[in-house]
Amino acid sequence: ARQPIMAGNWKMNPSTEADALNLSTGFVALLNEMEDTCAVDESEGCTEVVLFPPFPFISKVRDVVGPHGISVGSQQIYYEDKGAFTGSVAASMVKSVGCEYVLCGHSERRTMFGDSDVNINAKVRKTLEFGMKPILCVGETKDEFDLGITKEVCAMQVSKDLAGVAKEQMKDVVIACKLQLCCGIYCFYPVIIIIETTLAVLDEPVWAIGTGLVCGNNEANEIHKFIRTVLEKMYDKEVAESTRIQYGGSVTPDSVDGLMAMSDIDGCLVGGASLFADKFARIVNFKK
Ligand code: 13P
Repeated sequence: ARQPIMAGNWKMNPSTEADALNLSTGFVALLNEMEDTCAVDESEGCTEVVLFPPFPFISKVRDVVGPHGISVGSQQIYYEDKGAFTGSVAASMVKSVGCEYVLCGHSERRTMFGDSDVNINAKVRKTLEFGMKPILCVGETKDEFDLGITKEVCAMQVSKDLAGVAKEQMKDVVIACKLQLCCGIYCFYPVIIIIETTLAVLDEPVWAIGTGLVCGNNEANEIHKFIRTVLEKMYDKEVAESTRIQYGGSVTPDSVDGLMAMSDIDGCLVGGASLFADKFARIVNFKK
């Protein structure tokens, strides 16, 4: 079985070190209150938890969460080892402050900072070279979604971004998938809640409306399964079946249980909700 992995990507938040410490202490305090909290190195079946704070807060957040079995990761690295690359951070640096994971190819890096598949591939390989684990993010843009080429885009990104990664290294690779389709559905979530509430009042079966989150979950799961077929072609069935694939995109305490009930969704890469200790603690303790 694949061990669930929940990651909180804080992106460029919060604004100060004090706020970062408050968030992480609040989070571990809530986790400790919860019964079935699982630390990274505990028995199989427990949930692995990783936080991705901004660079300046990594060390201090690690000091707070590390003793509770939660690891930290870097939102970004540059693929060169060192030198005149002003503003960049090397794999050795984030490794030396305790990072176990590195996000590679996040959609915001691809669209806002011009990360190409060639660069992302170099970052994935550099992360592995330094004994860390890449979370390779893939997924379509709105335009690609509109064109109906989601699978083609995911297949191309997975194959280009993992080029040169050996089969033996794949045990350290996590893939995260963000889909416009599901984001779109979650954007309509307030509307769905209103419809659901109305139907509940009228005592109608909620899913009679044939829309809503279940559809989103199934669509996401289908893409995750498809990614496994790509991995099987690149490597073999064992890699396809054992690689963990997270879903990432507007995951909330309300949507996590449905997502995690899907056969091929092994965890979530959480943005906004990870900035609230209570929301992320609930997500980590998703109900099976
Ligand atoms: P949100 O959860 O805020 O949609 O962010 C998703 C994401 O990009 C995670 O890295």
